[in-house]
Amino acid sequence: MDHLPSSYTNNKTMFKLNEQLSREENIALAEASAKRAAELHKAITDAVTEGFKHVPNYSGTKTQQAKARSAESVLSRLYSEMQVDSRLKSTYAIRDRMEQEAAALKAAEQTKKQREVESKQLLNDAIEYLLNHGKQINIDFKVENAINSANVLAFELEVNRRYTNEPISFSGSDSCEDCSGWVPGERRCECGNRRVSWTEGWNHSFKSPSIYAEAY
Ligand SMILES: [Zn+2]
Repeated sequence: MDHLPSSYTNNKTMFKLNEQLSREENIALAEASAKRAAELHKAITDAVTEGFKHVPNYSGTKTQQAKARSAESVLSRLYSEMQVDSRLKSTYAIRDRMEQEAAALKAAEQTKKQREVESKQLLNDAIEYLLNHGKQINIDFKVENAINSANVLAFELEVNRRYTNEPISFSGSDSCEDCSGWVPGERRCECGNRRVSWTEGWNHSFKSPSIYAEAY
């Protein structure tokens, strides 16, 4: 080995047969390469074993330890560890999604419960409204239709309340020229051009009656 150039013995390149060298020289290079490979294998195995010593197999029985130190196990451990960060991120992402779904479900259930309470309350209010106006259950209205009956009654009461002999302005009067308006209760506006009637506002209810005059 002494007479070999240092570039042959000191480099980290693994052995490759060189026919330019003597048999002894090739054997010396092969022995150096085998030693380097064994050192490399030991260094990797030791490092991986040290890194995974908290894993049961690495501190278990002698058979388990030997198996854990096998080249296959060592590489498989390393491959697995190379993806440990993406596995962790996906675990967190799944956890977040499950928490979000659980929160959304809880919110939906609360909303549903709240709506049930509100609609029950609205029904009770409607029944009370009808009774207060002298209506009788099963004669003037049915409990299951109480909200609609209350809205209809509120519309009629609002029509009465807004009664006047004077012409009022109405929605959709564009095609009337010099029209003085509509007198509630009449079928047509004052110029006779448009048919007009009271209409429910979009948010009309017995709680907040809303009507307006509209031409058709
Ligand atoms: Zn008119």
